[in-house]
Amino acid sequence: MRYTSDLTSQPRSASQKANMPFVMPWEIAFDIDGVVADTMVPFVELVRTRLGIKDFSKEHITEYELYKCLPEVSKEKIDEILWLVLSDEYTFKIPPCPGAPEVLHKLAQYGTLKFVTARVWADSIKKWIHQNVPEVAEDKIVVIATGDPKAKSKILSELNVKVFVEDRWDTCENLAKEGFKVIVYDQPWNRKGKGLIRISHWYELEDLICWP
Ligand SMILES: [Mg+2]
Repeated sequence: MRYTSDLTSQPRSASQKANMPFVMPWEIAFDIDGVVADTMVPFVELVRTRLGIKDFSKEHITEYELYKCLPEVSKEKIDEILWLVLSDEYTFKIPPCPGAPEVLHKLAQYGTLKFVTARVWADSIKKWIHQNVPEVAEDKIVVIATGDPKAKSKILSELNVKVFVEDRWDTCENLAKEGFKVIVYDQPWNRKGKGLIRISHWYELEDLICWP
């Protein structure tokens, strides 16, 4: 299979320009992988180096299920790479999504930063967050690993969160149905989803926050 570089799916943000600020800094929480952490960067690198698929890029990840994006690769090989990406060693190589550290730093002035991830273990990603926003005190950062995307809504209610930023479309849809305001962080794997606020850069998120 060829992974063409002639890609037509590009981030869309034009329709979001009309959104007015609607969220207070203390009402918002974040998913981590694909929103704060650009987790697919090491995944793509490993697909290129370990599997020799040199023309593979993040734009080719048009499905959340990675097996569907690499149909010629066995599930075992993809799982192996995923385990590596989620390992401590690779977690620390994940770059932040552009603008995330700056906006999180600004948000931290108004309350605790809240992150809810479906990862099973929180330890390494907690350390990763501290590494990327080193100026924010540890007691001003809450990271909850649910192990299951469906468990996010209960945690968000307990944390008094009204708005959640997420990249997995099914989770976005479910949380919206449960009454949360959802901001979709644009990624090639969620572009089929329509009808929710979408941002493609953290600076757009900054414009949606009512800064006191
Ligand atoms: Mg995610």
